[in-house]
Amino acid sequence: MAIQLALGVDIGGTNSVFGLCDRDGNVIYEHSLPTTNYSDASDLVNDIHSNLTKEGYINNIVGIGIGAPNGNFYSGTIEFAPNLNWTGIIPLADLFEKKFTKPTILTNDANAAAVGEMVYGAAKDLSHFVTITLGTGLGSGIIQDNKLVYGHDGFAGEYGHIRVIPSGRSCGCGRNGCLETYASASGVVRSAREMESPNKHSSILNNVDNLTARDVFTAATNGDLFAQEVVEFTAEILGNSLADFVCYNSPAAFILFGGIAQSGQAFADMVKRHMEESILNIYKDKVEIRISALHDKNAAVLGASSLVWNDLA
Ligand SMILES: [Zn+2]
Repeated sequence: MAIQLALGVDIGGTNSVFGLCDRDGNVIYEHSLPTTNYSDASDLVNDIHSNLTKEGYINNIVGIGIGAPNGNFYSGTIEFAPNLNWTGIIPLADLFEKKFTKPTILTNDANAAAVGEMVYGAAKDLSHFVTITLGTGLGSGIIQDNKLVYGHDGFAGEYGHIRVIPSGRSCGCGRNGCLETYASASGVVRSAREMESPNKHSSILNNVDNLTARDVFTAATNGDLFAQEVVEFTAEILGNSLADFVCYNSPAAFILFGGIAQSGQAFADMVKRHMEESILNIYKDKVEIRISALHDKNAAVLGASSLVWNDLA
């Protein structure tokens, strides 16, 4: 019998990455196409189909998983995604299902990451956990009883937009003080700029216009005191809000995913310390902070493809 593969598709604002994974999370093939070249989503679907036919994999595909910004699991559509040039409601799961004649599951990218963690990653042993994706923004995916929590409309887990500081920083969602304006790559850069002080001698302040979160974390690791202050502030806000999240559904762990999480165990430990400082006493020392095990260039495709195995299981 031909090897069974899941097609994982990650729709991004710039590129759409797609790949084929086996049940153990081995990526057999991966390719990407520039999303911006496609004014019509069905042309992208056709090109992915042609590519996989040409590469000889089309008959190995047992199902398709799609991670997409503003992806709605229930309707299989992308709804008004701010970073895509497709406007309105795009029936993407339907387009894939018709073209490939295989079952197709679509959800948002943060949810796909959570399922990826459960199927192949750092949460294989857990039934209740939450992934926190620290990218440009902050996304979260909630797993309860081994199932993703979608909520009544498919949009559960927008934890990046809980407001941690009323009338705080302005957020892309149009409101103020959202968690992701502090705990995300862009939040770290904003903190570095806001906390800037002429009295502080710090390497990261030499090039504040082009500063990245990675610069801040690298400088902190190298002993830069101001950078350490910025990282500590970020960990404190995140740790405090995770302590509150625990009250909703008592997860066994938070799995940190994305660029900032990749900076290593030191940041995870710092978040854990702040979480424990402010957590309700009944939850003390019960909730782990883990780092994603999907940390490589294939993470997005792994997350999307895991939706297929999780559904078939
Ligand atoms: Zn917001």
